[in-house]
Amino acid sequence: MSCIFCRIAAGEIPSTKVHEDELCFAIRDIKPQAPVHVLVIPKLHIASLLELEDEALAGRLLSVAARIARAEKLEQGWRLIGNSREHAGQEVAHLHLHVLGGRKLGRMLPPAGPG
Ligand code: AMP
Ligand code: ZN
Repeated sequence: MSCIFCRIAAGEIPSTKVHEDELCFAIRDIKPQAPVHVLVIPKLHIASLLELEDEALAGRLLSVAARIARAEKLEQGWRLIGNSREHAGQEVAHLHLHVLGGRKLGRMLPPAGPG
């Protein structure tokens, strides 16, 4: 099994888990981009948001993200990011949602540059 999030789901690689249920789990990002940076990840291998068709799972991922934002006390604001495929810079090809907060996060996107 080469997928890093499948290996984390199987307990083969250590992680800082902040949530787990029968459909998904959430871990702290190894290279946090904000004081709070948690990844919400389905247990089943789904390559990206483009392949997500299971509405029950989609709802669970969103509600877990919101639950984490409440638990991390992100009342001042937070952002949910789902990078999907190359143009979004997706690095791990196993669907995950980033829960980010704990500081002002700036504009949603950097200005468009060349390329
Ligand atoms: P993305 O660019 O949307 O695919 O994001 C992948 C994220 O996974 C990055 O923020 C990485 O820092 C994070 N990441 C990679 N490996 C691990 C790991 N072993 N534990 C926690 N987060 C990881
Ligand atoms: Zn996987």
